[in-house]
Amino acid sequence: MIKTDVLIIGGGPAGVISAITARKNYPSTKITLVRNKKVGVIPCGIPYIFYRLKSVDQDILPDEPLKKNEINLIIDEAKEIDFSSKKVVLKEEEIFYDKLILATGSKPSLLPIPGIEKEGVWLIKKDLDYLKKLKEAVMSSKDIVIIGGGFIGVEIAEDLSFFQNLNIAIVERSSHCLGGSFDEEFAKEIEKKLFSKGVKIFTNATVKEIKGEKKVEAVVLEDGKEIKADLVIVSVGARPDVDLAKKAGIRIGDYGGIWVDEYMRTSVPDVFAVGDCAETRDFFTGRHIPIMLASTATHEARIAGTNVYEMKILKKNKGTLASFCTFVGDRIFGVTGLTEKRALEGKFDFVVGESTCPDHHPASLPDTQKLKLKLIFSKASGRLLGAQLMGSQRCAEMVNLLGVLIQEEMTIYDLDFLQISTHPLITPAPTIYPVIVAAQQALSKIKR
Ligand SMILES: Cc1cc2nc3c(=O)[nH]c(=O)nc-3n(C[C@H](O)[C@H](O)[C@H](O)COP(=O)(O)OP(=O)(O)OC[C@H]3O[C@@H](n4cnc5c(N)ncnc54)[C@H](O)[C@@H]3O)c2cc1C
Repeated sequence: MIKTDVLIIGGGPAGVISAITARKNYPSTKITLVRNKKVGVIPCGIPYIFYRLKSVDQDILPDEPLKKNEINLIIDEAKEIDFSSKKVVLKEEEIFYDKLILATGSKPSLLPIPGIEKEGVWLIKKDLDYLKKLKEAVMSSKDIVIIGGGFIGVEIAEDLSFFQNLNIAIVERSSHCLGGSFDEEFAKEIEKKLFSKGVKIFTNATVKEIKGEKKVEAVVLEDGKEIKADLVIVSVGARPDVDLAKKAGIRIGDYGGIWVDEYMRTSVPDVFAVGDCAETRDFFTGRHIPIMLASTATHEARIAGTNVYEMKILKKNKGTLASFCTFVGDRIFGVTGLTEKRALEGKFDFVVGESTCPDHHPASLPDTQKLKLKLIFSKASGRLLGAQLMGSQRCAEMVNLLGVLIQEEMTIYDLDFLQISTHPLITPAPTIYPVIVAAQQALSKIKR
């Protein structure tokens, strides 16, 4: 029997950051983390195990930060929680806790497609041995079909496109790959980039059947089209892993994740939930939304780790902006806050400002690329509500800057007077700095 002050179940980004944050805030407590995998993987690195990372072992989540922070790591599986005695039953032993943080993550979603059980059909699991087998199978394949054009499907397709001998196809149910994350003009650019790398894309397409004797031979679409396949990757999203929480009787929310309040507290005293297993709130509406991102997971983990013993009132969850960026071809695509599509669906009264400019100045400098930015502002208050951009590497940090501007409730007027640093080799020109130009364009629409 083990006793600990803080017990964390789950060793993904949310579990690790909860533990480290709790250590920083409560230095004298005993902190224990239980993980059911001997070795963890970095989930965001999975799409790159095929080409860019030379082996799956290069995507291992290091345990050093846990050791360095004196966090007791136990490799075992949590099977049951008894809240009355504050005890978690593992396969091998029992642990008594004072505070419990659930960070059990998510599992890949399945589709009820006939033939999904066939040999050659793979999911994207955060499991080192499984991924090693998947990589081996990919290396001996020729025709790969990816079902699902979300960010995981797109990133895998892009990485695989470096292998000249592979035929890659994506099947996406909606009208565009990444159409849920970006507005159409950005999603179309993503598709163009994939296409230029030889990836075939089937949109507005639903899979009817995965065909083959024992092993997969083709993916059949509803319209009868057949796409030749000797390997299929299903990446149609993830669902919160709440088996343990459900069994213990914790309240589950509308989207199937563990219900939490603004401090990541569950319906049970002294029990928190963070990351993919917990329900996420939207920054603007406060409503629960099905967003699963490592950036959101670690944000929630920092809130739980900070408040696990005492309420440090300023560290509460304002909700997620779902800030996210991806790399397709030679371009970064980033988004934070509302897209125009989401603003329309949510009935926001908004105005759009856009700008396109070279990312160096003068534009004749080598490696200059076009940077496109789209900002969404509230018409009445002028508050920045969302940003999307595409361009070179510098977009990745620019999307984070824009996220901060939204988080800090900055307005179109603040952006008009933004103080910036610029340099010819690194940024757009100060005379046409994209954030300012897009804000001014939106402002002119408001004034009109
Ligand atoms: C291929 C891929 C690419 C991604 N790319 C990005 C990206 O670029 N940017 C981004 O922001 N997000 C990305 N994500 C999403 C991101 O990985 C998740 O949001 C993140 O992993 C959530 O972290 P988590 O700790 O909540 O859950 P998980 O990473 O799922 O970790 C859960 C942990 O709990 C353990 N566990 C579960 N049940 C038990 C139990 N009963 N007992 C003990 N241990 C248990 C698991 O073994 C695991 O260690 C990607 C996801 C995938 C799959």
